[in-house]
Amino acid sequence: MLEPLTHIGRDAATGGYVRDAWSPADMELREWFAGEAARRGLDLREDRNGNLWAWWGDPSRSPGVVTGSHLDSVRQGGAYDGPLGIVSAFAALDLLRERGGTPGRPLGVVCFTDEEGARFGVPCMGSRLLTGAIEPERALALTDDDGDTLADVLKRAGRRPESVGRDDETLAGVGAYVELHVEQGRGLVAHGRPVGVAAAIWPHGRWRFDFRGRADHAGTTRLADRDDPMLPFARMVLAARAAAERRGVVATVGKVRVRPGNANAVPGHVAAWLDARGPAEDDVRALVAELAELAGGHEVSEESWTPVVGFDPALRDRLARVAGGGGTPAPVLPTGAGHDAGILAAAGVPAGMLFVRNPTGVSHSPEEHAEQADCEAGVVALADVLEDLCR
Ligand SMILES: [Zn+2]
Repeated sequence: MLEPLTHIGRDAATGGYVRDAWSPADMELREWFAGEAARRGLDLREDRNGNLWAWWGDPSRSPGVVTGSHLDSVRQGGAYDGPLGIVSAFAALDLLRERGGTPGRPLGVVCFTDEEGARFGVPCMGSRLLTGAIEPERALALTDDDGDTLADVLKRAGRRPESVGRDDETLAGVGAYVELHVEQGRGLVAHGRPVGVAAAIWPHGRWRFDFRGRADHAGTTRLADRDDPMLPFARMVLAARAAAERRGVVATVGKVRVRPGNANAVPGHVAAWLDARGPAEDDVRALVAELAELAGGHEVSEESWTPVVGFDPALRDRLARVAGGGGTPAPVLPTGAGHDAGILAAAGVPAGMLFVRNPTGVSHSPEEHAEQADCEAGVVALADVLEDLCR
């Protein structure tokens, strides 16, 4: 089932995927989702925030059980982060139908929009807007690398920017949410198990640093006369690494934009994005405060912040028991990665996650991989879990 997706948004030179929200690749993926829903006779709805829902049963009568993930990717991402959860959702639904019987509750497959935040900088945009975790005005004003706002991009895609925002009607249909995801680490390898369950998502955030100086000639401007923003930027990157090691968290500067971007010019402006996460909120906050102080008069703005999300303990234990297939319960693992399931959990929706073993642990890279047999074990575990929750 992953096969028809392999060519969409693939960079032939690297083998990595580039699937920005609302890009042509994303639109093609959304069409694929609609086709899979139609083939199964599911009722397809797009909510006011661009999230796609394929329903077996009517969630307006009684809240349903929802599973799914996202189809967009980080730039140069792998084939499994996101799509595995959606393909597995459809496959689990097929398996439930093969087993016979009709679920006692509506069953939904969801595709959340713009989970990675690759284009506008804020991850989990679809679920944040849905639950009201981000103000629509702030979201719509975010810009991509071309300077287009989310509002512009939505309009161009034929959507209505004025209707984005918290959507209680759609939320009321979600009685529980279970997201299957490729593990982004090697916890399951250590346990020797194909499928695990998420314990909690580390607190995490993104910050934008704007270092401003003065663009000038690289040959004729004396060193003493320069106001070069690359220097405080470089100090920040090294300090982030040192502070992360000291405080037991992780910190990454993975995106930087240099203006005007000429090899023979002192830059005038360096914008850099810091991603920081860790087991303890205070340590992450302290790291950012330390870097902000180091950056002195330069502007630092918080683009997103998600506090620690502990998944519903009863649901977590139920998932572990059912995903264990009647034997030893599936292992319960913490994760440093954010997910839509975390946004829903923070909004009070009972939510949980299943992880599928990743042999190398590598993710957000073309090297990301999961074995076929493990993916199949994931589908069986997901079907068992859905069957249990739909009783
Ligand atoms: Zn993901």
